[in-house]
Amino acid sequence: MRLPDARAHLLTNATADRYRRTLMDGVERVAARIATTERPFTGITPDRLAAEVGAVDLDRPLGDPLAALDELENVYLRDAVYFHHPRYLAHLNCPVVIPAVLGEAVLSAVNSSMDTWDQSAGGTLIERRLVDWTAARIGFGPAADGVFTSGGSQSNLHALLLAREEALAAVALPRAEVLPRLRILASAAGHFSVQKSAKLLGLAPDAVVTVGVDADRRMRPGALHRELVRCRERGQIVMAVVATAGTTDFGSIDPLPAIAEQCAAAGAWLHVDAAYGCGLLVSPTRRHLLAGIERADSVTVDYHKSFFQPVSSSALVVRDRQALRHATYHADYLNPARMAEQRIPNQVDKSLQTTRRFDALKLWMTLRIMGADAIGALFDDVVDRAAAAWDMLAEDPRFEVVTRSSLSTVVFRYLPTGPGRVHADAVNLHAREALAASGAAVVAATKVDGRHFLKFTLLNPETTVEDIAVVLELVARHAGHYIDRVTTPMLACNAR
Ligand SMILES: *Cc1c(COP(=O)(O)O)cnc(C)c1O
Repeated sequence: MRLPDARAHLLTNATADRYRRTLMDGVERVAARIATTERPFTGITPDRLAAEVGAVDLDRPLGDPLAALDELENVYLRDAVYFHHPRYLAHLNCPVVIPAVLGEAVLSAVNSSMDTWDQSAGGTLIERRLVDWTAARIGFGPAADGVFTSGGSQSNLHALLLAREEALAAVALPRAEVLPRLRILASAAGHFSVQKSAKLLGLAPDAVVTVGVDADRRMRPGALHRELVRCRERGQIVMAVVATAGTTDFGSIDPLPAIAEQCAAAGAWLHVDAAYGCGLLVSPTRRHLLAGIERADSVTVDYHKSFFQPVSSSALVVRDRQALRHATYHADYLNPARMAEQRIPNQVDKSLQTTRRFDALKLWMTLRIMGADAIGALFDDVVDRAAAAWDMLAEDPRFEVVTRSSLSTVVFRYLPTGPGRVHADAVNLHAREALAASGAAVVAATKVDGRHFLKFTLLNPETTVEDIAVVLELVARHAGHYIDRVTTPMLACNAR
């Protein structure tokens, strides 16, 4: 390719027209695909798709966007998993709101980087406004601050880094002596990023202590109290209690006021992981479920879960901005200390990342076009739908359903009767796989007390009660076929 041709692909003042045409071609392609998606997934196997992707010669460019889009149909668009389809009921993936997609297109074209003011200007101020806005929704005071991150896992890691440093600063002993004594208390229903963070933070292998839960999978304050006492007796230092406001599996919300009370008494950092439950911050009817969150030291919010934002969009918000200093480093080439003295707002002073996307713009466009109440109403819809799904399952003798979620998950399993009963685990595993392979619907799987269960995570307001009923029939049918196979000796023989 000659140099002038290559330059024609750069987005510059000379190529604005090409940018417009190319993007329109892409938008047309995606719009057509989204409008005509009949199933959430085609059920293609990794091997078959790998052959298509592997056959592309990356050293032979097609030159033409339309040709590349045609090829993209085969390697991606045709077989992608579509979260906007009403029978995608699996993980914490939301359909996205159009204002946020508009923000995404703008932010990647302008390509601001959020590390320093001199790479973003207005982007920095917009992100700060949104952090302040979120902090106010949480109920934090004027000392609050925070930063956007890539996701809940990173927000949790960041929070626990701050908590670790605060704990280390509070005891006048060498770090090496204190580190192995640090403990994090979290319930078993908490997110695995807490364990990963503990490892990254150099804590002991057994640093994360599991606190017992009640029948609704919420942390028991009595159990928390016992673990706090036990840690103290063993000479361990509780650097953080992680409460979850919306557990990934059960949508359960730990009793925040009682936990905050104990953290205050024990002098422990309270981190509230609201990666999933943050949608309640804008719910017109359910904000009270987060009562007590304002007493946290740090909060994780994932806008890309319950604010209907495209990946990625998350934030860590802290009650007292002083804590953010633990991630502050100055570099002559980027953010020399004198800039802070001049009060030049450099977000890198608070962030674990350096070059960073202007993800905040998506939420900004969402709030400016739709508003917070509209987002909250969408989230309320899916929470209502999950309650209806739970009722439906509770009345259906073919299924067993566990704890009623405060949010939008439903954990259940098909319960075979008679001789099939011993195969309950395998039946549910099979039903999920067969359903995904058919592409008719996608549901998730998890384990409850060692047994295999299925899970709906509802985040699409377009999913109707009827959709849910249809998916349950499909689950029952796949389960029935499997039971027939394993309990009919002839058929079992043939299957082998
Ligand atoms: C999804 C989730 C996370 C992790 O967030 P990512 O954005 O996937 O990194 C953390 N905590 C909870 C409770 C979650 O549901």
